[in-house]
Amino acid sequence: MKKKKIAVLGSTGSIGVQALKIIKEFSEDFELSLISANSSDTLLLEQSLFFQPEHVIINTESGYSYIKKNLRSPFTKLHLGGQALCDLIESEDFDIVLVAIVGFAALLPTISAIKSGKKIALANKETLVVAGQIISSLVEKNDGNIIPVDSEHSAIFQCIQGESLESVKNIILTASGGPFRGYNKQQLENVSLKNALKHPNWNMGAKITIDSATLMNKGFELIETRWLFDVSFEKIKVVVHPESIIHSLVEYQDGSVIAQLGEPSMYIPILYALNFPKRIKSSAPKLDLIKIKSLNFEEPNKKIFRHLDLAYEAIKFGGSYGCVLNASNEVAVSAFLKEKIRFIDMIKIIEKSIEKITFVQNPNLEDLLEIDLETRKFANSII
Ligand code: NAD
Ligand code: MG
Repeated sequence: MKKKKIAVLGSTGSIGVQALKIIKEFSEDFELSLISANSSDTLLLEQSLFFQPEHVIINTESGYSYIKKNLRSPFTKLHLGGQALCDLIESEDFDIVLVAIVGFAALLPTISAIKSGKKIALANKETLVVAGQIISSLVEKNDGNIIPVDSEHSAIFQCIQGESLESVKNIILTASGGPFRGYNKQQLENVSLKNALKHPNWNMGAKITIDSATLMNKGFELIETRWLFDVSFEKIKVVVHPESIIHSLVEYQDGSVIAQLGEPSMYIPILYALNFPKRIKSSAPKLDLIKIKSLNFEEPNKKIFRHLDLAYEAIKFGGSYGCVLNASNEVAVSAFLKEKIRFIDMIKIIEKSIEKITFVQNPNLEDLLEIDLETRKFANSII
């Protein structure tokens, strides 16, 4: 059997590294053809030397010089910057493009992949938050194929196989509730960066870990659900499930509810997306229900975690709302990670940005790029 050629965008991140482990484990099925990173040159070089992919792309000039000096492979070509990445995605052949870049930066490479007819395994969610409408239309126009990697969406995707979307009554996303589940306003005022970075169940990149603590991550996943599965916001619910064993559920018109379960690990969602529609034998952590004993559920506290309602608003209003929500959140999270602001300041920066930046009903891609910049400038100015 011919090996599947895989491009991993963001290979040095949490998802990227896990994907490369899977590609190594199943080296008879997969060939790593392209890897990319923003600035993590040491790890990118290590990956390049080990996997010998055809193409390696890095964003920083210093990283480019470093890898160039140390990469002794006649086979691997090194490239610099985001435009080179987009050009390669369009011109080269890949069976699957795994988008594991964090944030807005994944938007243009994802569009290149759709336009050139590539099958996409999508881990990045910000792209759909910012430009869900544009991405969906492009996918439709190009007969595109997006397989979700985010664990909740992988679960939903697995639960709807063989079903018709008309028979879906509700989609129920599960949320762990993050490290500050049950906290009141006063307790949230004093939380530290260190504690915000301690997710109870998942080990992920810094940005999504903070988004999980504010519930922005779940909000983004609501928007992601809206676009991936073409459902209206009334049909998308969130339930807090602190054990993160049920990854999401689909409720059908006949009253049946189908769920997907597993230990909290991205191994299965990544493996499933790379092999879809096949399921293969794997070394995934085994789910032991007797050991788990009980599973718990509760309502999310939307009064404390206001990010969730902002996401519902983004689905209702559409247009540029999601773009402003994402850009102001990226700025706020980055400032919190640098300890320039407190945990509770993040929501204020987002709410002020939404209030300030003029809403556009039908933005095109250029408009979104501009709105993103304008929002970042404003959000930075109020920090
Ligand atoms: P991360 O921060 O660990 O890694 C991000 C990757 O993107 C790195 O390889 C980095 O070099 C690259 N990158 C960063 N900025 C870039 C830029 N400007 N241009 C090009 N590349 C850039 O992030 P992560 O936790 O792996 O998450 C990646 C994406 O997957 C996010 O959108 C996240 O929401 C989503 N996701 C992650 C998890 C998880 O378990 N980590 C689960 C579900 C969804
Ligand atoms: Mg998720």
